[in-house]
Amino acid sequence: MSWQTRAACRDTDPELFFPPSDDDTAPVVARHLSAVRPVCGRCPVQTECLTWALDTGQDVGIWAATTPTERRAIRRQRLAGVPDPVADREPACAACSLLFPVPAVDGSLCSTCQEKGA
Ligand code: SF4
Repeated sequence: MSWQTRAACRDTDPELFFPPSDDDTAPVVARHLSAVRPVCGRCPVQTECLTWALDTGQDVGIWAATTPTERRAIRRQRLAGVPDPVADREPACAACSLLFPVPAVDGSLCSTCQEKGA
């Protein structure tokens, strides 16, 4: 995986990307996502990362700012023939280029940028 050498998370604590829960509603997962999203948001290989995580069925951890639950939803949509952010390279946040985890997200900014008022 040569793209990993360009990953923005290369020097980040790997434990940040592996919360001790798979429950997206758990506060600990939200804290990990808050810490990880800015890193993934400036990562030049976010698309490659998400593609790899989806194609290899990564079912634990945060990859390209997506949780296992979000990636399962994307995989289900792929199987159903629904366009996905990897295939279309869309939609992405207009401010930070973070890929939206699922294509149905409204608006042009990711939640982090919306919170910042970007
Ligand atoms: S998108 Fe996030 S998890 Fe993936 S390589 Fe980049 S910084 Fe790491």
